[in-house]
Amino acid sequence: MSKISMGELLRDASRRGYAVPCFNAINLDMVRGIIQAAEEENSPVILCHAEIHFKYTSMEQIAPIMIDAMNRAKVPVSILLDHGKSFSAVMKAMHLGFNAIMFDGSEYAYEENVQKTSEVVKIARTLGVSVEGELGYVTRPRSGGAEGEDDDSIIDDTSLYTDPEQAREFVERTGIDALAAAFGTVHGVYLKKPKLDFTRLNQISRTAGAPVVMHGGSGLSDEDFNAAIDNGVAKINYYTGMALKVVEKAKQRMLDTQEHGFYHEFMMNVIDDFREDAGQIMRTFRSSGKA
Ligand SMILES: [Zn+2]
Repeated sequence: MSKISMGELLRDASRRGYAVPCFNAINLDMVRGIIQAAEEENSPVILCHAEIHFKYTSMEQIAPIMIDAMNRAKVPVSILLDHGKSFSAVMKAMHLGFNAIMFDGSEYAYEENVQKTSEVVKIARTLGVSVEGELGYVTRPRSGGAEGEDDDSIIDDTSLYTDPEQAREFVERTGIDALAAAFGTVHGVYLKKPKLDFTRLNQISRTAGAPVVMHGGSGLSDEDFNAAIDNGVAKINYYTGMALKVVEKAKQRMLDTQEHGFYHEFMMNVIDDFREDAGQIMRTFRSSGKA
């Protein structure tokens, strides 16, 4: 199956009532664990690399690894530039072979966001690359290595949430294939219990005219994930939860064994931890068996 357009993947998810998991994979170990899980679970999957992670791994380094994984996989895979903010990153990603781009213009005023996102879509179309846009603002209080606000009191600021009617206009004017919407989730670690606005999400999904994407999936309950999917979410981005969990497991293993093992043994265990967590997520997002 291997390479597939993200637009096609998400339309299938919308039709069949599941969410495609989108994992930030910043190195080979993560890519291997995630792809193993997808093949085991027979789940479609999106591998992504975010602009804020360029300081750990460059696009030039990760692109060939992701492309190889995508081409060899027995399940449908798409590779996405996550939160592309600069025009240069977006262009470079397309040039390197990413077949999906998230252009994040959420920090711009509405008209500017429309204009910049449309420009990206125009170029992407000619190359057969899918585009995800963002309307509203999913905050980033604290996440792996990212700077930002120290608390998530801003989470309740509904003025940052996506307006369903504006979402429809945004999709129509830009021509995007997927819409990242804000309805109460935050990026990174939740510092207080999230309260998601599912009524708003439902309205957005019904009016937008493009599959809806949920960012900030780490730390939500299975009930929240289920409700999000029931209310129309077709793709969920997930990173922080996995990044923390895998380190916790590795730490415990080292304490338990008290052994000084080889790095390659450590690496294989870590790949297995990524596989396990990714598989769990695929079952939760109901993408298992949907490849
Ligand atoms: Zn995000």
